[in-house]
Amino acid sequence: MAKVTDIYGSMVFNDVTMQERLPSTTYKTLAKTIEEGKPLDEECANDVAHAMKEWAIEHGATHYTHWFQPLSGITSEKHDSFLDPTGDGRAIMKFSGKELIQGEPDASSFPSGGLRATFEARGYTAWDPTSYAFIKDEVLCIPTAFCSYTGEALDKKTPLLRSMSAIEEQAKRVLALFGEPERHVVTTVGSEQEYFLISEKDYEQRQDLALTGRTLFGAPPCKGQELEEHYFGAIRPSVNEFMKELDDELWALGVPAKTKHNEVAPAQHELAPVFTNANRAIDENLLTMEKMRLLASHYGLVCLQHEKPFEGINGSGKHNNWSISAGKTNLLDPGDTPMDNLRFLVFLTGVIQAVDDYQELLRMSVASAGNDHRLGANEAPPAIISIFLGDELGEIVDALVDGHEYTNADKVAMDLGVAVLPNFLKDNTDRNRTSPFAFTGNKFEFRMPGSAVNLSDANMILNTAMAKSLKEFADEMEGKQGAEFEAAAIAYIKRTLTDHQRIIFNGNGYSDEWPIEAERRGLANHRTTADALPCYIDQKSIDLFEEFGVLNEAEVRSRYEVKLEKYNKLLNIEIRVMKRMARRTYLPAINEYLGELASTVNAVKAAVPGADTTQQEEVLNKLLTGVSKANEALKALDALHKEIAALDDEQEKANRYAHEGIPAMEALRTEIDLLEKITDRDHWPVPTYNDILFYV
Ligand code: ADP
Ligand code: MG
Repeated sequence: MAKVTDIYGSMVFNDVTMQERLPSTTYKTLAKTIEEGKPLDEECANDVAHAMKEWAIEHGATHYTHWFQPLSGITSEKHDSFLDPTGDGRAIMKFSGKELIQGEPDASSFPSGGLRATFEARGYTAWDPTSYAFIKDEVLCIPTAFCSYTGEALDKKTPLLRSMSAIEEQAKRVLALFGEPERHVVTTVGSEQEYFLISEKDYEQRQDLALTGRTLFGAPPCKGQELEEHYFGAIRPSVNEFMKELDDELWALGVPAKTKHNEVAPAQHELAPVFTNANRAIDENLLTMEKMRLLASHYGLVCLQHEKPFEGINGSGKHNNWSISAGKTNLLDPGDTPMDNLRFLVFLTGVIQAVDDYQELLRMSVASAGNDHRLGANEAPPAIISIFLGDELGEIVDALVDGHEYTNADKVAMDLGVAVLPNFLKDNTDRNRTSPFAFTGNKFEFRMPGSAVNLSDANMILNTAMAKSLKEFADEMEGKQGAEFEAAAIAYIKRTLTDHQRIIFNGNGYSDEWPIEAERRGLANHRTTADALPCYIDQKSIDLFEEFGVLNEAEVRSRYEVKLEKYNKLLNIEIRVMKRMARRTYLPAINEYLGELASTVNAVKAAVPGADTTQQEEVLNKLLTGVSKANEALKALDALHKEIAALDDEQEKANRYAHEGIPAMEALRTEIDLLEKITDRDHWPVPTYNDILFYV
């Protein structure tokens, strides 16, 4: 058996492979391009393309694709073969620099939120050399950005890359003030991917799962997750086999899949990779999601990546662990010397300010129809953004704000005037799982993103907001040095922390009191996607993105429109599926049982005059009442659906789906779920929660 270390990265055109395969001058030019984000000249591109093609063919590839992230979906690809007929009946394998650098997919069917008029339908893809090319299923995949011919970004990667440049530029200014040598600054991301595995057999029988990714009906199982026996429990053999193959495939693709375990909910699991720079980390996460979906089928399983496939038990999240590093230094690491600590406090303050100022944008970045069901329910943070710092750091911040002396747990007084921080902060194991944005020792963990989301948006916003904080600091400190700089920096930290203290919350985010307290503090609480999206196009947001060249106004508006449309389309589909299932699957089955039961009662009465048929008649009455209530709910949903679908204004549509459509769907579900509990098992037409969750 091949050693893991040999397999690892074997399908990636990574730095080592580049060094081996490229002429040294080409390698150097490319490395510089990657480092500085400059365009590649054609000659160099030709060399790289040639080496890449040779390598890819040796590894079994026949096609190449520009792999990109459109605004709506997860990833897109169109395969072109290397094949080039020579005209004499033979063919050669060809791949030019031009083909490497730029592709022209017919992009008219990708959502663009009005950015691209249909007469100008073509967009182009451009190689992103900062994320390595790789081979997947005999296709050389070249990670690319996707733009319109007028230069607007039509994808999720481009703004992410722009935001990484923005934060790098400002972080370098701050580091220069600290007299530190110039280094490459990147944001780092480690994403924990949660998912469910259920049997293909069950999945195929559930139209709701197949068409919407979640169960639109289903009575609660007799046993939920209350015994907590699944969490970290022994992994079932079929699931274990799946995880093994997944690891192997991911390792070959250079994805550092590190931990895997069962999650809290039955049939729920998690995979976490080792973190890397945000751009690659997101590509890797998207690849991981794709591989999970594909490989599950090898084991008769289906991988559900929806944020809330089952009501009443935990949903699936994708925690976004985030930090900033300069070379090998993690800038959110408290550090050992007073100067390191001051630097840490500056960056920490920057994050606090950024998250407070742009809390609505952050919330918006994870808003989706699916995540609406997860946030605030069963072990997921509420829709309110707040920051958890932990007891110790929380006290330090309090001390800085109030100007009092800080005494640590060992009763050692700290003079925060020179920004001395206790060293053991680094071993911070203080965990508050209820916080949407928690400091975990040397990084922040954003826990709001749902399992299905592409993390580009959240990171793009986080990076840009942080760039703004750092810019403000650097602007104010410009020209200051030594003691003057230190004093000014500390004053800045105190002032900024005081202004943004409201966002810090170390208490229980799941409690009923928190939303009330949050409202008192003036924190936003957008419970639904419809409520969360409009802030994208606020002047404040547009100003932020424009200031840092991350998105122009047209790009912002297009993204808002795409999200809004996607929400409305999904809700429309969900309601259609509900109506269809109620009419054609559930009600006929219930009626059939009802008819049989009625015949039974008649038959018994005929056979045994005066027989006691109370039980049967009680069930019959319950079924009859249930069916008529379900019918009422169905009619109400149908009427409402028609009314909403006829609206022209997408925001109004979304508002009504969120505030009227969802409750009407719930009403129908409630009736059908009650009927599920009293209908004969053999008559129930689909697998139940009991079947799906406990018998994989
Ligand atoms: P938990 O389940 O306690 O939240 P895990 O160990 O499952 O923690 O996941 C932590 C994630 O954070 C991993 O993906 C890890 O690589 C990532 N991580 C660690 N350090 C950093 C960092 N500096 N920047 C970004 N992510 C990080
Ligand atoms: Mg986590």
